[in-house]
Amino acid sequence: MSDFIPGDILEPLFAAADVEVWDGGGHVPRATLVERLAGCSGWLSMLSDTIDAGLLDQVPDLEVISQMSVGVDNIDVAACREHGVTVGHTPDVLTETTADTAFALMAAAVRRLPEGEALVRAGAWGAWDPWHFLSGDLHGSTLGIVGMGRIGLAIARRARGFDMPVLYTSRTAKDVPDAVRVGIDELLRGSDIVVVAAPLNDETRGMIGRAQLALMQETAFLVNIARGPLVDTSALVEALTAETIGGAALDVTDPEPLPPDHPLLGFANCLVVPHIGSATLPARRGMARLAVSNLVAFSKGEPMPGWLPGSAPQPAPDLSSEV
Ligand code: NAP
Repeated sequence: MSDFIPGDILEPLFAAADVEVWDGGGHVPRATLVERLAGCSGWLSMLSDTIDAGLLDQVPDLEVISQMSVGVDNIDVAACREHGVTVGHTPDVLTETTADTAFALMAAAVRRLPEGEALVRAGAWGAWDPWHFLSGDLHGSTLGIVGMGRIGLAIARRARGFDMPVLYTSRTAKDVPDAVRVGIDELLRGSDIVVVAAPLNDETRGMIGRAQLALMQETAFLVNIARGPLVDTSALVEALTAETIGGAALDVTDPEPLPPDHPLLGFANCLVVPHIGSATLPARRGMARLAVSNLVAFSKGEPMPGWLPGSAPQPAPDLSSEV
């Protein structure tokens, strides 16, 4: 196990297997991982673990990986399949929390909350002025959702309460009341806020680049709650410098963590938070519980509640006792 999990959540796993917990804190060095995974058949991994063919070659006893996140861009899923490794992840249990984070970021960016807070803390809160510190409105803004999946749908549901027309793009049409599926260019041109909620893979890496940012309105905001490399960081810095977009709000960045002297941190209209999209206690406990359930189910030959399609198949159920 690559990180701390509360003991009460681990109990079913302790009952099902011999468990070893990495207690070194922080990122597990590759050599340590290989050493500690030797002889293990299951691994509860984190998104900070790089899981590739090179690693899998060195841990031949591994049969199942259960990752405590929904995003699996750190895992070479094809290599897992080739190595016969079944993968589980934690969809659904963090969806609503991450959609809340998207809305928090949108509201903060559009209503300039970080700028206002910095001004107050700097002692620059002057007399009330009806024309001071104006912004656009969140309600009524057109929201463009890139990647209409579980989280995209939860964001679209919240948008209805804010009277926000919704445009979306995804490879297949979704049944979303009142939302209009358009091509990415039309979405970028027509949205006051663009929120990125697609998975990171070879197809989506850099999908919001220079050409895409150039299509956005100069008052529009870019919000990324998915994965940093979906957005070309240099292109975003250029757009913010040239003021061709209104601002950005980023839960995820490329690189992560963002160094303190990174250009993105030099813009008052670029809000950056440290990958906290699902960081509430209930969501994290739900993710940990599901990650544990995946391993327990696998160990019993039962269907994993969060099996990742594309990885090795789950063990066939043992029907020998059935008549
Ligand atoms: P999901 O249900 O798989 O939704 C992603 C959607 O993106 C899919 O429905 C897919 O629809 C669409 N998509 C895939 N490729 C696309 C493309 N090339 N262009 C446009 N749309 C595309 O996943 P989810 O649970 O909503 O999570 C989405 C991502 O958010 C995760 O992969 C993860 O990386 C990230 N995430 C981040 C945090 C955080 O802490 N910031 C928390 C949770 C999740 P089609 O198949 O129809 O294209």
